Amino acid sequence: QNSYTRAHVTAVMSQKRKATTDAGAEKPNKQPKVSSEKKEDGWLQEQVLQQRTAKKEMKFNKKRLRFLTDDQKIKPGAEGVLYWMNRDQRVQDNWALIHAQRLALKENLPLHICFCLFVQKSKLSTYRHFSFLLKGLEEVSQECKTLGIEFHLLHGLPGDVLPSFMSDRSLGAVVTDFLPLREPLQWLEDVKRKLPKDTPFIQVDAHNIVPCWEASPKQEYAARTIRGKINNILTDFLTDFPLVEKHPYTATRTAKQVDWAKALASPHLDKSVGETEWAKPGTKAGMAMLESFIDVRLKLFATQRNDPNAAALSQLSPWIRFGQISAQRVALQVKKTGSQSVAPFIEELVVRRELTDNFCYYNNKKYDSLEGAYEWAQKTLKDHAKDKRAYVYTREQLEKAKTHDHLWNGAQFQMVSEGKMHGFLRMYWAKKILEWTNSPEEALSIALYLNDRYSLDGQDPNGFVGCMWSICGIHDRGWGCQRKFDVAHFEKKYRPKDL
Ligand SMILES: Cc1cc2nc3c(=O)[nH]c(=O)nc-3n(C[C@H](O)[C@H](O)[C@H](O)COP(=O)(O)OP(=O)(O)OC[C@H]3O[C@@H](n4cnc5c(N)ncnc54)[C@H](O)[C@@H]3O)c2cc1C
Repeated sequence: QNSYTRAHVTAVMSQKRKATTDAGAEKPNKQPKVSSEKKEDGWLQEQVLQQRTAKKEMKFNKKRLRFLTDDQKIKPGAEGVLYWMNRDQRVQDNWALIHAQRLALKENLPLHICFCLFVQKSKLSTYRHFSFLLKGLEEVSQECKTLGIEFHLLHGLPGDVLPSFMSDRSLGAVVTDFLPLREPLQWLEDVKRKLPKDTPFIQVDAHNIVPCWEASPKQEYAARTIRGKINNILTDFLTDFPLVEKHPYTATRTAKQVDWAKALASPHLDKSVGETEWAKPGTKAGMAMLESFIDVRLKLFATQRNDPNAAALSQLSPWIRFGQISAQRVALQVKKTGSQSVAPFIEELVVRRELTDNFCYYNNKKYDSLEGAYEWAQKTLKDHAKDKRAYVYTREQLEKAKTHDHLWNGAQFQMVSEGKMHGFLRMYWAKKILEWTNSPEEALSIALYLNDRYSLDGQDPNGFVGCMWSICGIHDRGWGCQRKFDVAHFEKKYRPKDL
């Protein structure tokens, strides 16, 4: 294992990018022709509405939930059920909300949703992320209005505002979703400590298709060790969704009107990182992106997914990250196409993605530090920590895309300006940071900082694992091959103009 790692890390550290011979030539990068069978825009929304309506009676698989408190029964006299929305910011295709609605229906109670907004003053609290989040939530609140569900935007940390909100409204049970990062797990503990003892507190993994705790009870070593476990039970969980229906029991005290513009005007937000043009927030926009993937790009995914110049990826990560679209919905619709790209796409969307939740959940204290890497990787990184570096850059130089490497600068510039970077380039980008900084600890901290500040899909288990994978060998099997795509074309397009 050691020699593999040494070879891997040293190979990575000595990688030399070679420009392709047809530098400057326009590589065919056309979108495939739209066939005459192309359906009307919006066909997907229509189709899923029909599917949900047809599956109204669909059972809720209890393995998706777990009780965080001992009490399982709603106390008599309660005036409603609450879904504390955190990671899964959507109404339909959301198992946490489906469960909350069923609980409320069983007890003839009104249904409430709350989101706790807390803006920390930090370089990671960017306007880009919060505008995507808040505009997505605004769409949720509008949808709630049409469904007779009360939506509340609470201001403060969950432990400080949620238990008192519940007692003030006499809400008898709270359902929440699942995000295996340290801060949100701490919020759960804080809320649990302050809830009245007889209040059922239920968690539903509404993000993963196979719930994290069902996929595996321990930290998995690699995709190959979790793949079989997920695939063995995938059909139990990759089901249709029932419709979240108009709720028949209305609350006597309605929710306070939300001032969305004011929420977005928080002085703590870093406005120097602005909105992106390509990614419109909200479930509707996410579904439109899924529709265009199915109609146009999916057929290229199998063969061109490693080419940053080709439009072959789904581009769905921001909507999945904010829970504005469900990965299970994406998987269901993509599977229906029967395309040759289904298998490689499901590998990314399900196996790779669920592996990152597994890593963060079962390695919760160390998912973002070198100590979270395997011993062999730590040793190899230590052995090479003193290797002479041909180039050493500061965080500021990297942030401003001021390196000698045009490909790297282009990738960094695209992330800063567009809030995204192609998956294949992300590995190259992170591995180069390792090569160009003084220590692996510094490399990891810079990679996470840049990814989480600029990538719209950042601050997610996928990002922690992506950086740990590229820099510390987590789940890795070796990587290379600079010649998979037309490097010159990419550089030309994204090279910052002042360099
Ligand atoms: C250094 C580095 C940092 C990364 N940071 C992030 C991040 O902050 N947020 C993020 O969502 N992904 C991250 N990834 C994983 C991956 O690169 C992105 O998910 C992908 O590029 C998003 O584009 P897409 O939606 O078009 O992906 P597609 O290729 O169309 O895949 C569909 C979905 O599958 C999931 N997926 C794809 N690749 C991976 C992967 N390798 N690991 C886990 N899930 C995957 C994503 O949810 C993605 O939206 C990172 C990877 C690396 C190497």
